[in-house]
Amino acid sequence: MRIERIDIYHVNMPMKATWRAAFGDEEAIDSVIVHISASGHDGWGESAPYRSPRYSPEWADGAFRLLRDWLGPAILGKDIPSGQALQRHLKPFKGNFFAKAALDIAWWDARGNHAGEPVGALIGGQRPDVTVGADIGVQDTIDGVLAAVESSLRQGYARVKLKFQRDSGLETVRAVREAFPKAVVHIDCNSSLTLDDLPLLKQLDRFELAMIEQPLAYDDLLDHARLQEQLQTPLCLDESITTLDSARKAIELGACRWINIKVGRVGGITNALAIHDHCQDAGIPCWIGGMLESSLGQASSLAVATLPNVRYPSDIFPSARFYHQDLSEPEIVLSGPSTVAANTAPGLGFSPNADQLRAHAVQRASLVA
Ligand code: MG
Repeated sequence: MRIERIDIYHVNMPMKATWRAAFGDEEAIDSVIVHISASGHDGWGESAPYRSPRYSPEWADGAFRLLRDWLGPAILGKDIPSGQALQRHLKPFKGNFFAKAALDIAWWDARGNHAGEPVGALIGGQRPDVTVGADIGVQDTIDGVLAAVESSLRQGYARVKLKFQRDSGLETVRAVREAFPKAVVHIDCNSSLTLDDLPLLKQLDRFELAMIEQPLAYDDLLDHARLQEQLQTPLCLDESITTLDSARKAIELGACRWINIKVGRVGGITNALAIHDHCQDAGIPCWIGGMLESSLGQASSLAVATLPNVRYPSDIFPSARFYHQDLSEPEIVLSGPSTVAANTAPGLGFSPNADQLRAHAVQRASLVA
């Protein structure tokens, strides 16, 4: 498929309420949305590194500029027959996985539209629907967390993830466990702890959490391996896994027993698939994370979540959970108590609403071959 045109948008999508995690607060989600025309077929991709480099070293304005000035020109006018070929063109540019992901996802959407097949089917996905979980941000009070957990379980969610805050997290987990002793619960520390917090982590180890997600530094593997040796609770790596190579090293070191694959964080669907397959061969189960993207961004998570080694409810959310109106369409809706139906349309099956895209774009650029 020859890349004839690339349109790049930096969008700012206001949320219903401020989202709080250990790395900071977000009142809106900053995404990059890419449209490509490839041999007459459209492809759309979205990747959300956020407004500032607090979750990872990337941020949306930087990703927009990189796409406009370097990554887009590197593939414009080129014939790109596969996701691996696309990644080879992007490889000279170090890191910047979220920016690369937007192009890779758009390529896969165009590829699916060209083939008349859903992307999930093209990559070997097997599920008609995927299991999803509830995600609860840091709240002002423990009662607020308990009410959110109760509401999630009442809605039938198969698991609940709690965003963990160092100061209040232990008491919160204790209260949740006392109130809901049998619920499948895990915590996401978003790289806010160090090995000096071992006493705290040992206490958390007593609450039969399904996993502890990314307790230590965003770029660490070795300390996670040292920590995993001392805990019963499985560790799950998120921020630390940006490439197939980092996944391989994490598994060899024993740094985790789960891997959260985020399509944006690993540079797109091509790399997400490679990491999934490596984990499957190594006996390490995966699940799919998200960045609170519009339904277009979540569509790439949905495609990857149909893969067979995804074995824990993924972070794919109904559009109404975070947005008054989703920037993209159709909206994500639950198909059952804790499930979302896989896309059956060609490509990813989602694209921006033109009016919403215009209303929320803060920058745009077009490259034409
Ligand atoms: Mg996480």
